[in-house]
Amino acid sequence: MLKSIIIFIIIGLVIGLIFLSPILRNKRRYRIKQRPFPPLWNAIIENNLPIYLRLSPEERRRLQGHIQVFLAEKQFIGCRGLQVTEEMKLTIAAVACLLLLNERGEYFPKLRSILIYPSTYFVTQTVAVDNYIVEERRDARLGESWTQDQVILSWEQIQYDIHNWQDGHNVVLHEFAHQLDQEDGKADGVPILPKKSDYPIWSKVMTAEYQQLCNDVQEEREIIINTYGATNPAEFFAVATETFFEKPQQLLEKHSVLYKLLQSYYQIYLKKIH
Ligand SMILES: [Zn+2]
Repeated sequence: MLKSIIIFIIIGLVIGLIFLSPILRNKRRYRIKQRPFPPLWNAIIENNLPIYLRLSPEERRRLQGHIQVFLAEKQFIGCRGLQVTEEMKLTIAAVACLLLLNERGEYFPKLRSILIYPSTYFVTQTVAVDNYIVEERRDARLGESWTQDQVILSWEQIQYDIHNWQDGHNVVLHEFAHQLDQEDGKADGVPILPKKSDYPIWSKVMTAEYQQLCNDVQEEREIIINTYGATNPAEFFAVATETFFEKPQQLLEKHSVLYKLLQSYYQIYLKKIH
């Protein structure tokens, strides 16, 4: 009898915790967002996020709140002897949190750590080149996003991107778009969308635009979306995100359907920026 009561209490506690934990997490996040935003942080972001001052005051305030939560929940690790500074953390958090202005309520839930290398880093990969033949290759990388746990970034590349905001390439936007895509466990170019009915529209537009990019690359036409997007649908979504934030006007002019799809997903109005 006592045994059954104890089991019953334990089950009750587990169920209670499952229901309570999102409520407690939201309360904690709400409290973090109420903290004053340090003026030094604001100055660093003004310097390092070229579109920050073009956001509306309301968007800036929401972005600040997301940055506070992001900094409180993620850990930053310096690699190859790199000393992680406040500037590095804030710059990465500010760019990544631009992707959260659609108020989805999630903060890259599978991500725990951001690893920062001083510059390009190298990984050794084993690649099958033929039947029974594998080769070890040393790949140079500027960033990567793992399905679990990690985003890896090169600080040198981030600094380059800060000064070249309108070139359509941004390693932080790219890797964190992958995080959104990987949230459902699959890297397929389809992030979690608000409604079930959004998926067929997403699939139709993205498939057509991806195909068009592949054709344009093959026929060597002039393109505004980085050709790396033609690698696969997951890379296409990451590259389209970079283009949307860095070249919104050009994207609207040349790929209005894609622009509108991304605008409705990210809920941010960038047309006015350039
Ligand atoms: Zn990628």
